[in-house]
Amino acid sequence: MTQPPQPVILQNLSIPRPSSGNLAALAEKDRPIAVFSDFDGTIFFQDTGHVLFDKFGCGPEQRERLDKSIGKTMSFRAASEELWGSLNVTLPEAIAELKKKLTIDPDFYTFFEYLQTHDIPFTVISAGMKPLLRAALDEFLGKEKSAKIKIVSNDGEISEDGTVWKPIWRHDSELGHDKARSVQEFRDSVEGVQPKVVFLGDGVSDLAAASQADILFARRGLALEEYCIENMIPYIPYNRFKEIIVDVKKLVKGNKYHDPEAKEAARRAKIAQLTGLSPLTAATGDKPPSKGFSLGAASSDEEDEDEDSDVEAAAKPPAPQSPPHSPPLKPVLDERPGLDRKHSTGTVPVPAGKPAGKLAPFEEDDA
Ligand SMILES: [Mg+2]
Repeated sequence: MTQPPQPVILQNLSIPRPSSGNLAALAEKDRPIAVFSDFDGTIFFQDTGHVLFDKFGCGPEQRERLDKSIGKTMSFRAASEELWGSLNVTLPEAIAELKKKLTIDPDFYTFFEYLQTHDIPFTVISAGMKPLLRAALDEFLGKEKSAKIKIVSNDGEISEDGTVWKPIWRHDSELGHDKARSVQEFRDSVEGVQPKVVFLGDGVSDLAAASQADILFARRGLALEEYCIENMIPYIPYNRFKEIIVDVKKLVKGNKYHDPEAKEAARRAKIAQLTGLSPLTAATGDKPPSKGFSLGAASSDEEDEDEDSDVEAAAKPPAPQSPPHSPPLKPVLDERPGLDRKHSTGTVPVPAGKPAGKLAPFEEDDA
């Protein structure tokens, strides 16, 4: 049997490209970050489709022939339809084979958790078939962890007897799933400050998204890296998620949306601007008793909303004191609908919905 081709490790990269050393210079600290990652060959070292085509479909020789024809005599979508259409295996049997053959990057979930704790939205963006991708994540991470990860991909119709595998393409284009379009759809959904898009990928299906990314990670020696070199697209090479974690931490450091210390410093500076106090004095100034200045405490949308309230409250002159012999004041509860009493100070209504300028995770279309 013919062995799959070994990746060519490219040498003598001739274009200027960012390296880990100067990554900090790339990071704009006043823009939020959003991360998109390819699935096959990136989160998992293998390709879910290839595993199945080789065992239950057209076989490795025909798969390689079709792969090589992409962009020459066939579109990605046409070649993929032929590959998926060659399968004759039930979904449970296919998942059992993936369980045996796939290897997940051991640091992927650590990376995902780091993003979560720093309020950075993460989306899997794949040219694969969603039932397989979800099953692989369920199998390797457990359903609870898997459920936290959003997948934007193609879908598929698979007959119960396994004789029909029909991709349901996300986009009506030659790519089937145009990842560049999906990234743009995400950008369009963002209100306020546009995020810095970080994209992680390796292969042919990632080429379109390369030009959409603000910061691009390309796995060493594969088609995306080759494309970046040929087209002078700056990128950061990687082999494993543990390398990406190091670089993303550099992007986060000092970013006022994601680095707890930078968030706190920005809040102090805002108070100082409003009060005329030095940032240090502002940091220890009057605050509503229910709020704290703890570093790193605020990270969610609601907490950010509170943060603005904190700044405004700290900047206001102190409220007049009650006469010494007045009866103690009771708080007056405002029963109007739409008030979030947990987060309001007194009777200031909290508007419903997400505050403008915040990043919402890219919604997975589970339909
Ligand atoms: Mg890939």
